[in-house]
Amino acid sequence: MLQSPSPMTRSPLPPHVLLFPLPLQGPVNSMLKLAELLCLADLHITFVVTDYINSRLQRHSNFQSRFDHYPNFQIKTVSDGLPEDHPRGDRFIELFDSLRRKTKPLFKEMLSSGCLESDSRRRVSCIVADGILGFTCDVGNELGIPVFYVRTISACCLWVFFCLPKLIEAGEIPFNGDDMDELIKSVPGMERFLRRRDLPSFCRSGNIADQNILLYRTECDEIPRAYGLILNTFEELEGPILSEIRSLCPNIYTIGPLHAHLKAKLAARGSSQPTFSNSLWEEDQTCMAWLDAQPSKSVIYVSFGSLVNITSEQYMEFWHGLVNSGQRFLWVIRPDSILNKDSGSRIPDEVSEGTKERGYIVDWAPQEEVLAHPSVGGFLTHSGWNSTLESVFEGLPMICWPYFLDQQVNSRFVGNVWNLGLDMKDTSDRNLVEKMVRDLMEVRKEEFLQRADQMAKSAKRCLVEGGSSYNSFERLVKDIESMDAPVS
Ligand code: UDP
Repeated sequence: MLQSPSPMTRSPLPPHVLLFPLPLQGPVNSMLKLAELLCLADLHITFVVTDYINSRLQRHSNFQSRFDHYPNFQIKTVSDGLPEDHPRGDRFIELFDSLRRKTKPLFKEMLSSGCLESDSRRRVSCIVADGILGFTCDVGNELGIPVFYVRTISACCLWVFFCLPKLIEAGEIPFNGDDMDELIKSVPGMERFLRRRDLPSFCRSGNIADQNILLYRTECDEIPRAYGLILNTFEELEGPILSEIRSLCPNIYTIGPLHAHLKAKLAARGSSQPTFSNSLWEEDQTCMAWLDAQPSKSVIYVSFGSLVNITSEQYMEFWHGLVNSGQRFLWVIRPDSILNKDSGSRIPDEVSEGTKERGYIVDWAPQEEVLAHPSVGGFLTHSGWNSTLESVFEGLPMICWPYFLDQQVNSRFVGNVWNLGLDMKDTSDRNLVEKMVRDLMEVRKEEFLQRADQMAKSAKRCLVEGGSSYNSFERLVKDIESMDAPVS
């Protein structure tokens, strides 16, 4: 790991931290929370987002009015180099490539031009960037600015990424044969439960030159280059896997669950907590009134996050399964997330009726508020890491239907390591959806709720004074304060 630069003339102004998230909903959401935590620690913050993300945040979230309370916060925008109508998240390899080629020089220019500093704001003293944006470390090294990486995925998936070279070397990927239940042996700490089907979805491509494999196998070389690694997780949840990662990358700050960490810090300051949103879509608040009218723990919340697209066949299987389960459901169906949707196709009467009686469908929900609502008793999720942590914190059992990337690993941990729910991966058959929803919400309800409640308690404990995430964050702030801005 890089050492912090040697002490130079100390500035009387607070340290100036530049944050650069991966320009996608989940990472932007987490990094805005980290930015606010660092503002509360009285550091100066520059938050760099792409023009595309900035325009969506301005349109759909209240983040601007929220950060108006922090004179120590500024936002700066940079181009991601893609045309306006590019689908970004849907073709994120192209997004990464464009960021590396086109955004890197703009980012360097931004840092070296002096445009981020003023009489009341000193030069950037450190960069906190998403670890997948490796070019930020190159720029930091060139300008003598220390870099902390942030990964907003789970530690368990990050460890699998670290082990990709080993998996290739051992001949475990590409798969030899089609038994998806065969155990994987080259990921230390996961030998007893990790199957081929639990590896990140791109491992199924059968091709070690797959662009995703090339991208994520660089983690092994890339992450240890930074001064430290900040993770949105907590020791009590992922301790054994964190120990494995520490063997390669000793300076880790586990400060999650970030959304709750921020709320805890605001509450400790006696700040009234207006609801806030970092959403890139318009939140439909009407679902909160609908939830108010439902019995306690009776509703399963269904959402597949910001990137998943499902086929119209899968959509109908889920819909039938949910209605046939007889349970109440609140379902987020993002506009345009259903592929080949034929608007003329007939919805069976029993599905429409069942939905009218027990269901509510929205384009986008205020998810944190929904998960904290007393009427919600379970979550059918795509196992995105933010959604998983938000569910863990609220003590909600999950049914996991992972789509890609880290989600396959996360869902295995939810179902078979933490025992917080059921892993439905690789199928969306209506009968299985119905059975799992009944199991989670009715048949095994108490058993799951009890375990989820225990994990929620440890998530809450790690955030109070002396808790693991609380301490890690204090250490992060101290380390940032010990770094001085390079002299021009
Ligand atoms: N989210 C939301 N409203 C919704 C669905 C999702 O606010 O209707 C938020 C959710 O709270 C989470 C983020 O979007 O913080 C999704 O991140 P995650 O890592 O779970 O999945 P991704 O979208 O990155 O696949």
